[in-house]
Amino acid sequence: MLRVRNLRCGYGSLHVIRGLSLHVDAGEIVALIGANGAGKTSLLKALVGLIPPVGGEIRIDGRDATGEPPWRAIANGVALVPEGRQIFADMTVMENLEVGGYRNPDRALPIADVLERFPRLRERAAQLAGTLSGGEQQMLALGRALAARPRLVLLDEPSMGLAPLMVQEVFRTIRALKEQGVTVFLVEQNAVAALQVADRAYVLETGEVILEGEAADLLRNPEVKRAYLGKGYKEVWE
Ligand code: ATP
Repeated sequence: MLRVRNLRCGYGSLHVIRGLSLHVDAGEIVALIGANGAGKTSLLKALVGLIPPVGGEIRIDGRDATGEPPWRAIANGVALVPEGRQIFADMTVMENLEVGGYRNPDRALPIADVLERFPRLRERAAQLAGTLSGGEQQMLALGRALAARPRLVLLDEPSMGLAPLMVQEVFRTIRALKEQGVTVFLVEQNAVAALQVADRAYVLETGEVILEGEAADLLRNPEVKRAYLGKGYKEVWE
């Protein structure tokens, strides 16, 4: 579904992604974990054409998508759920969802189908998006992405700023996406949650992949435990 080879990109002369390679197969949930500033958001921006690559290759479904503009990402079946949700606060829930399918109306998922997946949003369809709780806003950002009927969803730190119960709900939704055949590439600082939901994962450090493997193996990996999981992490989730 997604193959990135030796990607280099950044901001002017600052290259924050430095020869990164990874792949996401159809039907997988793949996580990318890494500390603040490792380059996670920059990678996602490059994948949807928001920052141009200076080297390497991005292939979507076997097609060369390197350097294509953002609107092509949607046409290619890729949707980004950005960091901090970025919902349209002064528009209603319904209007936000309509924006998700706006670019490709022929392909868009009917809003009723999106609302079916998110009963909380259905109850609040006429509410201004800016008045939703953080968790509801995250659901809306997900719903808006799904309205474009993507085959690959890129999620940028969906658990950020959410209470533990809401984090669990967001991650349950991510699992449900997989069950519905959507491929997920998940960027997270919450390494425990990400590794518990993912099939495989990559660890990013200063723009380079330093570890990769089955998510369950990385969860047990002493290096990952020391750097990303912290002491007592199990109590949070068990
Ligand atoms: P976080 O988890 O804190 O969101 P991240 O892993 O997503 O971090 P990025 O946001 O990709 O990291 O940032 C990687 C590096 O690129 C950082 O050093 C950051 O300061 C820099 N950077 C990000 N955006 C810009 C920009 N618009 N202009 C210049 N440098 C930037």
